[in-house]
Amino acid sequence: MEPRGVEAGDEPREKCGVVGVSLAEREAARPLYYALYALQHRGQESAGIVTHDGFQQHGHVERGLVGDAFDESDLESLSGSTGIGHVRYPTAGSLDKSCAQPFSVSFKSGSLGLSHNGNLVNAAEVREELAALGHAFTSDGDTEAIAHDLARNLLDEDLVRAVKRTMGRIHGSYSLAIMHDDTVLGVRDPKGNRPLCLGELEDGYVLASESAAIDTLDGELIRDVRPGELVVLEPDGQGYDTYQLVQEDRTAHCFFEHVYFARPDSVIDDSLVYEVRRELGRHLWAESGVETDVVMPVPDSGRAFASGYADAANETTADGEPRGDEPGVEFAEGLMKNRYVGRTFIMPTQDERERAVRLKLNPIKSTVEGKTVTIIDDSIVRGTTSTQLVELVKEAGAEEVHLRIGAPPIIAPCYFGIDMATREELIAANRSTEEIRELVGADSLSYLSIDAVASALDSSRADLCLGCVTGEYPFDVPDEATDRDVARPVIDAPESAGD
Ligand code: AMP
Repeated sequence: MEPRGVEAGDEPREKCGVVGVSLAEREAARPLYYALYALQHRGQESAGIVTHDGFQQHGHVERGLVGDAFDESDLESLSGSTGIGHVRYPTAGSLDKSCAQPFSVSFKSGSLGLSHNGNLVNAAEVREELAALGHAFTSDGDTEAIAHDLARNLLDEDLVRAVKRTMGRIHGSYSLAIMHDDTVLGVRDPKGNRPLCLGELEDGYVLASESAAIDTLDGELIRDVRPGELVVLEPDGQGYDTYQLVQEDRTAHCFFEHVYFARPDSVIDDSLVYEVRRELGRHLWAESGVETDVVMPVPDSGRAFASGYADAANETTADGEPRGDEPGVEFAEGLMKNRYVGRTFIMPTQDERERAVRLKLNPIKSTVEGKTVTIIDDSIVRGTTSTQLVELVKEAGAEEVHLRIGAPPIIAPCYFGIDMATREELIAANRSTEEIRELVGADSLSYLSIDAVASALDSSRADLCLGCVTGEYPFDVPDEATDRDVARPVIDAPESAGD
């Protein structure tokens, strides 16, 4: 069997934020820098920008947060009015700087820069094929495979056909910001697994993983890039062309973007993330509400869920009866977050992860003492946070602690852009909800149903990637079940904007 790009846990996965801008006259570096700041939650391991001044590329890629990766002189050296940027998600182990992005390289067919969010499932195959044709690779990531394939196609095709051919060759999840010489492109995989949107600025256009980055630049969201679509920004910032290069019967939008990963103020695939989370909270009350004195979120991830849950709890009782004059629940902050502690996920050992939860969250005694409380969070992955919190809140004097989770149990890893831990580490992989309840020490525990997720996203189950909660993936993954459809390549007439 031919080698594949994804083996559980042993391949670098591109879990990231991407951006591209094309401006009329202004330098692109600073807007790219601000946009990367807005996308910082999508990746903290490294940050990079590549620009083009009409003659040549300029690039700066550094390990660390956006604010640390660039100084004034770096930004000044990045000249040109078009460019792309990237923030990379933290992964276990050390960063190989050759994997940091944007990936940039010059070929006979011109210079290319690439920022990738997602994960290919056949990168190894593509690399082997290209290596046999004489291409030399400097990193082991997917992104370089895409760059080489595209460069090869550009030798004998125009830009649009070259991208289409590459889209026919690579399989898996990808939202790409590409720079070919001074032209910026956005490409979203045919199932639209990772987000990518298009926006208009006063003096140009922008492509970004999330609309919050467009807001930061005082721009207007135009729309999501469609699954299988290529958007080409004109180098002078005056307009854009779009090409529907591949059409599939179904999408596979990642539901977890709305549940956890994306910013609440972003609009993704037509839904404002904050409203979806509140709606998920309302469903959670309808499905498994429990009458307690206090409802409190795990900050910050559980906030929108808890506010929707508490709103619904104040309208109907747990039995679904109108509340009338009966007093409802109190919605309160019962946990304080130390905002200077990073995500617990990047702690390499379980012991460090447990310590990090304690450092990060502290109960407010007066909110919980002598009360029955419901704690709301978006998800349980390893169970570290829930176990620690139940213990902390009980120690602070709560009489009962009920846990409500705004997503279904995570039973399988994510291979397409979100670090979900390995199957062995997932607390729900082989346990019933009752077994998990017992392990985390809660008085009751309920998750949300998959149907509620589809309903809150105004989508059918078939159009979502639910791999982490069903174990069935929309792309081929070795040793995993799949629900893949066949692509129907097409080329449509371009839709144009601007002049
Ligand atoms: P755990 O403590 O392992 O059960 O992780 C659950 C907590 O981590 C929840 O508070 C989530 O908000 C957060 N979380 C969920 N998914 C991720 C992820 N992929 N990376 C980092 N944190 C996450």
